[in-house]
Amino acid sequence: MATTRQEKEAPAVSCEDCGARCCRYVATQIDTPTSKRDYDYLRWYLLHRHVNVFIDHGGGWFIEFETPCEQLGEDHRCTGYETRPDICRQHGIGDTDCEFHGATEPYKMRFKTAAALEAWLDRRGIDWRFKPRGGRRVKPADRDQAAGDRGDSESTCQPC
Ligand code: SF4
Ligand code: SF4
Repeated sequence: MATTRQEKEAPAVSCEDCGARCCRYVATQIDTPTSKRDYDYLRWYLLHRHVNVFIDHGGGWFIEFETPCEQLGEDHRCTGYETRPDICRQHGIGDTDCEFHGATEPYKMRFKTAAALEAWLDRRGIDWRFKPRGGRRVKPADRDQAAGDRGDSESTCQPC
């Protein structure tokens, strides 16, 4: 995290050119996908803007939200340095997982779109196409008729 740059003893490298990459996302580990439903959830995540899924070098799966920390100042320094979370204190340019100075890319594989994940699964011969059972899809014409019968003047929610 950006503020740890100030605590390292005489670092050979600095955070000055980085732009505080490590303060611009949050990520948390998720279960390794093993089923069509799992892959369908991943597709759902990835259909949202600024949400990524990645695999780290240990084979762990993560969901990542690309969103900057509210405490990140315009000068790329932490405005809440004294009370920053512990995870920020543990992260710094001396860590192997520093996103800027690390020896390797932090991601073994990273998906930014559902299409990218689908293509990757297809290349690996994984059948991810999930077809829910028992659900009844409502045709748009039927839905509009039902809304008219209820007297709805305007429908803002159109369930699929
Ligand atoms: S990603 Fe690395 S270089 Fe960039 S601010 Fe964080 S610790 Fe510093
Ligand atoms: S609390 Fe400070 S060090 Fe932690 S992510 Fe936010 S800006 Fe970065």
